[in-house]
Amino acid sequence: MQSSIEINHNTKIVGVIGHPIKHSFSPMMHNYAFNKLELGYVYLPFDISTTGLQDSLKGMVALGIKGFNVTIPHKERIIEYLDELSDSAKIVGAVNTVVNDNGNLIGYNTDVNGIINTLDEYKEQINGKTVSVLGAGGAARSVIYTLINHFNVKKINIINRTIEKAESLKDYFSSKMLFEKIKTYELMPPDVTEILAKSKLIINASSIGMSPNEDDSPTTIAESFNKKQIVFDVVYNPRQTKLLKLAEEQGATTINGLKMFVEQGAKSFELWTNKQMPTENILEILNK
Ligand code: NAP
Repeated sequence: MQSSIEINHNTKIVGVIGHPIKHSFSPMMHNYAFNKLELGYVYLPFDISTTGLQDSLKGMVALGIKGFNVTIPHKERIIEYLDELSDSAKIVGAVNTVVNDNGNLIGYNTDVNGIINTLDEYKEQINGKTVSVLGAGGAARSVIYTLINHFNVKKINIINRTIEKAESLKDYFSSKMLFEKIKTYELMPPDVTEILAKSKLIINASSIGMSPNEDDSPTTIAESFNKKQIVFDVVYNPRQTKLLKLAEEQGATTINGLKMFVEQGAKSFELWTNKQMPTENILEILNK
């Protein structure tokens, strides 16, 4: 993806804050879209440590930066410094997009939009079924919120290395969304094989398998998967994780994290510019 944005006094700045930030695909994606639509925006990566978070937000406002994405490790902590939150960001408890509305910082969670747009074509198949979610971090929060709010699932299994985090998510969603049908399991592959095998949808919302740890997988037990299942990995680098490869070998329908990545970005883009991002075009380029 090439971009040749002309920078001048009218150029509007957006970006992403996180630490580390060098692996983010977002600058490439947004700058490509700004360039293609000739919008006069530029998207910059800002490497911000946890201790620099509050000051960096004051800097964003002072410099008139129009908005920014938020990634690890700030998605949850940033909430205390924002002026307003969208309904979904409030319930999920994590923000990945901020709009600077004349100094008023408004937080959104567009990961939710990314998940909805990715899973929408499977809506009928998921309706009333059991879903297993691997992971209990920020991405898992967005996934669980979306499963309850948009997909009318019957039951959710949260499977995580640290069982206490899975339990705290279960308590959180049962009190915030009154959803009681959550079970928690420690991620011990032989013990969760049957749980996974009985799930219509399996979502890896953990960072297991993400580059550079491409040989890792939440499970390598083939019996966890079957051809009636849908397996969605939110990890998008590599495009085919080891988990997706194993699931595909067992005949499951597999979905990688690229569509979610592009769709969450498209919603952020729309919030900043009021324009539609050329998502088909970008997805095609990223898939190559
Ligand atoms: P996070 O809050 O740091 O949570 C990480 C999760 O992964 C935790 O549940 C953690 O378990 C688990 N984990 C990490 N390393 C592990 C290991 N070696 N063995 C077992 N479990 C491990 O991160 P996040 O924000 O949820 O992000 C998770 C992944 O989602 C990342 O790869 C991120 O790039 C991806 N993501 C993709 C999109 C997209 O648009 N496609 C959007 C958001 C995030 P413990 O609780 O035991 O530590």
